Amino acid sequence: MTLNERIDTLEARLRAADEHLSVKRNALMARYTTLHLGGTADILVSPDRPEQITLVLKNAHELEIPVVIIGNGSNLLVKDGGIRGLVIRMCRDMQNLEISGNTIRAEAGVMMSTLAMAAAQANLAGLTFASGIPGTVGGGVHMNAGAYGGEMSQVVTLVEGYNMDGTPFRYHRYEMGFKHRYSRLMEESKLITHVTFQLKPGKRETLLAEMVDYNTRRAEKQPLTQFSAGSTFKRPENGYASAMIDQCGLKGFTVGGAQVSEKHAGFCINKGGTAADFLALMAEVQKAVQAKFGVLLEPEVRIMGEDAPVTEA
Ligand SMILES: Cc1cc2nc3c(=O)[nH]c(=O)nc-3n(C[C@H](O)[C@H](O)[C@H](O)COP(=O)(O)OP(=O)(O)OC[C@H]3O[C@@H](n4cnc5c(N)ncnc54)[C@H](O)[C@@H]3O)c2cc1C
Repeated sequence: MTLNERIDTLEARLRAADEHLSVKRNALMARYTTLHLGGTADILVSPDRPEQITLVLKNAHELEIPVVIIGNGSNLLVKDGGIRGLVIRMCRDMQNLEISGNTIRAEAGVMMSTLAMAAAQANLAGLTFASGIPGTVGGGVHMNAGAYGGEMSQVVTLVEGYNMDGTPFRYHRYEMGFKHRYSRLMEESKLITHVTFQLKPGKRETLLAEMVDYNTRRAEKQPLTQFSAGSTFKRPENGYASAMIDQCGLKGFTVGGAQVSEKHAGFCINKGGTAADFLALMAEVQKAVQAKFGVLLEPEVRIMGEDAPVTEA
């Protein structure tokens, strides 16, 4: 069977097994990423409970369909040719969180802002850094997201989910291989469903004030009203990517519809261009920084999918 035929079979099986499961064909990925870039995915499903996830994973595995997992798409650059195979979107649904003592167990689709607010309301400290990161708990753990001196690795104790064949996995913090904006899950195909956090007692008013402070600083410095995926490049060992880009005189530098933000050189923004523009801009920035500082900036945004086919002019 061709990939398209296998995808037709997957769609038919999923619809027959669970009429409530959200299944979309030819889903435009630009709608599911904060950069608003990317062609169509062959099939996109948004499960809202673990049984639906295992149903989807087991069938995709049996049919040998490639699978990509996404959260809120806030760290993604999907190429213009889109994604062949299945995209599982773990966002908006899978939204429960349970608080017990100093512990929170959250489903992967919970937004980090919601998690941070719930923790603060429960007088639990350790998650204020996450309040302005526009991603999900699953995406945050996968990337070891962080800000203002905090990061997921400091508060996560257990990560649970499924392997791509639908069998369960569990990793304790010490097994996650956390580093700066990195976890071992970035090199493994696994779907996170639940994350457990161990927090410390704190004072609601202090925590809420800290979140307001962080978010005010963010709004002052970052181009939050424009389409971006946050910091385009990781922080290199010696220095800051944004300072290096700025010192190359690249603020406002544009390729097609992609631009180095004039407000914050660490952010590249989409002003109505294509993923190809964005990739070309990233390459120009890397070239300039390497020439001036001898440093090769490593993308922080996760690049997915295929280039658009070349068409005649
Ligand atoms: C304005 C703005 C500000 C930002 N500020 C910060 C910041 O301060 N600090 C920071 O670290 N990041 C920041 N980011 C980037 C981004 O928000 C984080 O990386 C976030 O953790 C991504 O979460 P997500 O749910 O959007 O994941 P996505 O972007 O959808 O996915 C990111 C990666 O995680 C994987 N993934 C997502 N969900 C799952 C899951 N359930 N199971 C397995 N894998 C999964 C995906 O396959 C992908 O590889 C910012 C982005 C924007 C747009």
